[in-house]
Amino acid sequence: MRNRTLHTQVRARLARGALPRGPGRKTYAGLADGPLCDCCGAPIIGADVQYEVDFADGPCGDRIRSLMMHRECHEVWMEESGSLRASAVSPRPELGDTAGCDRMVNSD
Ligand SMILES: [Zn+2]
Repeated sequence: MRNRTLHTQVRARLARGALPRGPGRKTYAGLADGPLCDCCGAPIIGADVQYEVDFADGPCGDRIRSLMMHRECHEVWMEESGSLRASAVSPRPELGDTAGCDRMVNSD
């Protein structure tokens, strides 16, 4: 069953940190133009809807990392992100590791 495989694949990538957890900062949907899907690895082509999810990345959150996904993969990823978050007890990772970022606000 394809959907079950997809869930397993996405869950494994989330668990080893190869995929960040949803929902991300911004999500765009558009016509497919052929990038590889970050969830399943297959190209997003033809009549597929391509989802682009932007994340703040880097130690200060000042870079943008974009993920590309099929619509179906995006749904699975959102689902798996939610179920992982519900069972996790660790603090939100995006709040940690900001030491050294204050130079950005003290630019004068
Ligand atoms: Zn996919």
